Amino acid sequence: MYTCQICRVNRAKYICQKCGRMVCENCFVPYAEICIDCYKKIPKHEGYTSLPMYAPLFIFFGTALVMLGVILIICDIVGLPGYVIFQISVFIFLSLTVIILLLFFSQFLIEESLRSSL
Ligand SMILES: [Zn+2]
Ligand SMILES: [Zn+2]
Repeated sequence: MYTCQICRVNRAKYICQKCGRMVCENCFVPYAEICIDCYKKIPKHEGYTSLPMYAPLFIFFGTALVMLGVILIICDIVGLPGYVIFQISVFIFLSLTVIILLLFFSQFLIEESLRSSL
């Protein structure tokens, strides 16, 4: 059992991918896989966060397209008129846009609170 090499209070659970120190969960930034000491040294424009932030976007757009395709096929089978299909697709795209925006916003807030607490 090792204690965290930053705060020296908690039990170490992670290893920093940058400096190799063993740190606890309070002193570790999980999505960057580095300790808070190394995290503080990263300039804000350097993209440690860019990948996890954009990944959900592509997943959602991919899901949206698949869902739209499925709904179009279902509508075609059931024989719904064109304007219903249009309304359904508009509804799906609007709700997905809201979800994506919320996701971005929450991730932004998490990152900001992380930075301000360091
Ligand atoms: Zn610690
Ligand atoms: Zn480190």
